[in-house]
Amino acid sequence: MKIAVLPGDGIGTEIVAEAVKVLSVLDLPFEMESALVGGAAFEAHGHPLPESTLNLAKAADAILFGAVGDWKYDTLDRPLRPEQAILGLRKNLGLFANFRPAICYEQLVGASSLKPEIISGLDILIIRELTGDIYFGQPRGRRVATDGHFPGAEEAFDTMRYSRPEIERIAHVAFQAARKRSKKVTSVDKANVLETFQFWKDVVTEVHAEYPDVELEHMYVDTAAMQLVRAPKKFDVVVTGNMFGDILSDEASMLTGSIGMLPSASLNAKNQGLYEPSHGSAPDIAGQGIANPLATILSAAMMLRFSLNQPQAADRIESAVQDVLASGLRTVDIWSEGTTKVGTREMGDAVVVAITKTITKG
Ligand code: NAD
Repeated sequence: MKIAVLPGDGIGTEIVAEAVKVLSVLDLPFEMESALVGGAAFEAHGHPLPESTLNLAKAADAILFGAVGDWKYDTLDRPLRPEQAILGLRKNLGLFANFRPAICYEQLVGASSLKPEIISGLDILIIRELTGDIYFGQPRGRRVATDGHFPGAEEAFDTMRYSRPEIERIAHVAFQAARKRSKKVTSVDKANVLETFQFWKDVVTEVHAEYPDVELEHMYVDTAAMQLVRAPKKFDVVVTGNMFGDILSDEASMLTGSIGMLPSASLNAKNQGLYEPSHGSAPDIAGQGIANPLATILSAAMMLRFSLNQPQAADRIESAVQDVLASGLRTVDIWSEGTTKVGTREMGDAVVVAITKTITKG
């Protein structure tokens, strides 16, 4: 099992070091190789995704990614900015399915801005299509309007589009994921207004015929945004397009209280995947040793489950994280009165100790 380790910038290096420590204690036959990505790669090689890093990622079964970016790169030409590395990896590896679980840990119920009864026990999975939609559709640009309300005025435009195979493959991913959970998929669209999403709805319905054991509901995106804060536990697997998924997955992540707890996975058709925390490089706290490493450690657990076929090792990491939270240890982002504040390294060490205990017991 070959893992490409790409820590990136800011807190990326600190949190990935903890995830690597956790993976190492599992005693599985991993081969881990690190490379620079993002701003760090730009500094060293003049490009955020150098060919050597891309080749390492392509040859690996999975990529463990930290985060990239820093405000000091905001003035660079767009193709040289650190964030382009993520887009480059998605494109080159064909990573089309983004998994963002939103799980509310019982010990952190108080960290959410919603009432405990609304989010206690929350465990939903947002699956976002990553390669199509209005983000990549052509043509796009600026021009002088020849029609519309203001002919002759300057205007900007983008193209929303989805092809049948793009919708079919993400629908299969969602139904198959639902089969391993509570067998319910909510497909989110805007079919009442957009032709693209009427097509989306039709194709998802057709694919559903192959999964009679899974319940399918369709929901407009505005209703979904409302229901996510009103009654989020009614959802199980949510599948949607690139733009709606971008927005809804961030909304869902906030239900759980802290962005420092949220893992994510982006998979291609061969189950090769890029695993990363949902947050960014947090330059405001980088180098202070206070970042929460749990989102990255939980991303490593997702990697074991989805790309490396090691579900028991994934379970072991996830229950170790629960044990550590139950013991009252908290990084600064999830700290509250009555709990013990720890740094990045101490949190990683505590997860390692909790795993070692289950290995000894088991
Ligand atoms: P951010 O997610 O980095 O930080 C937002 C806030 O959350 C900050 O206050 C930060 O301190 C805090 N935070 C984030 N992760 C944390 C953790 N693990 N533990 C404790 N606190 C944490 O978002 P931002 O500040 O908008 O962006 C900073 C940089 O990250 C930018 O350059 C941006 O482009 C980049 N970014 C990268 C990715 C990625 O690599 N996938 C994603 C989002 C943003």
